Amino acid sequence: MSTDNLQIRLASRPQRWVREDNFRQVREAIPEPSEGQVLVKVRYLSLDPYMRGRMDDAKSYAAKVELGDVMVGGTVGEVAESRDERFQRGDRVVGMLGWQQYGVCDARELRKIDVSRVPETVYLGTVGMPGVTAWYGLTHIGEPKPGETVLVSAASGAVGSVVGQLAKIKGCRAVGIAGGPAKCGYVVEELGFDACVDYKAGRLEQDLAEATPDGVDVYYDNVGGPILDAALDRLNPFARIPLCGLISGYNGQPMAIHNVRSLLINRVKLQGFIVTEHPDVWPQALRQLGEWVAQGRIKYRETITEGLENAPQAFIGLLKGENFGKQLIKVA
Ligand code: NDP
Repeated sequence: MSTDNLQIRLASRPQRWVREDNFRQVREAIPEPSEGQVLVKVRYLSLDPYMRGRMDDAKSYAAKVELGDVMVGGTVGEVAESRDERFQRGDRVVGMLGWQQYGVCDARELRKIDVSRVPETVYLGTVGMPGVTAWYGLTHIGEPKPGETVLVSAASGAVGSVVGQLAKIKGCRAVGIAGGPAKCGYVVEELGFDACVDYKAGRLEQDLAEATPDGVDVYYDNVGGPILDAALDRLNPFARIPLCGLISGYNGQPMAIHNVRSLLINRVKLQGFIVTEHPDVWPQALRQLGEWVAQGRIKYRETITEGLENAPQAFIGLLKGENFGKQLIKVA
């Protein structure tokens, strides 16, 4: 039996922070597709914060990864063998093949991509799930109007970087929050935000007040915790909060909101959402984001780690903010 398919499986559930021994490397035979299925050779794997939740045995909006199973993950790959007429060997496709070098799935779970104008990796970031997340949360929940101030946390990351650039396209003042001067510099100088606050500098409240002189109309929250509380202090009446992620609490940190009063006195709309529950917006969002990336109107940055065997370490780094832009693994 050939053992040419390296896989990374969930070995144990993390207690708070993820450790490398929560994963196990396995070598298996390359699977064969049945009728209606496609074998994909994975080229890039996307690492995303949601994967942390899938490692837990807790009630959530999506099924957990079972112990011993291949870790879940979005992928860009190349069709190696097709038993469906819609795909041919060599087609570039996006799918959810997970943390492995080869995977089989039903043809209807794959989407062909055009790599002539947008690089293939971008279909895992700005023109993929994170980009649609930014799009949906900002336009459908944040509903920004020209001249308003949009504040977004994790601003240099896959989702946050798109939120701020969309806000600028919509004629808003875009203000980011990110960790460290390098990320903040990038957010302002390269992505074109109006300001970016370094939450690690120790002056979060003062710096936020200076960066948002007219208050905040939309706070797009990617992190929760103390940053959410500080943002609540800056809200204008009738502000909107798309509650996208709570990464500051994914490893067991306390998540209480202290500044609840701001929600009441400002008559704030706060709404959580899960992007996969809104398939209706995906085609329009992907088309528009693809167009803007191809035209250079939306910029992006990637951290690409070489080799599937390094995915656990890179994922641990992502949860600590070591990535700069979209975190990817180059698998082949
Ligand atoms: P990023 O590319 O932004 O990477 C995560 C970033 O989070 C890190 O780089 C780090 O940036 C920041 N971070 C980590 N820990 C903390 C902390 N304790 N406090 C503040 N910031 C922290 O990830 P994504 O753009 O892919 O995801 C952003 C958020 O969106 C996540 O919470 C994710 O779960 C959520 N999400 C939600 C979806 C939905 O459907 N609701 C879909 C996709 C993503 P820094 O160095 O600046 O701190």
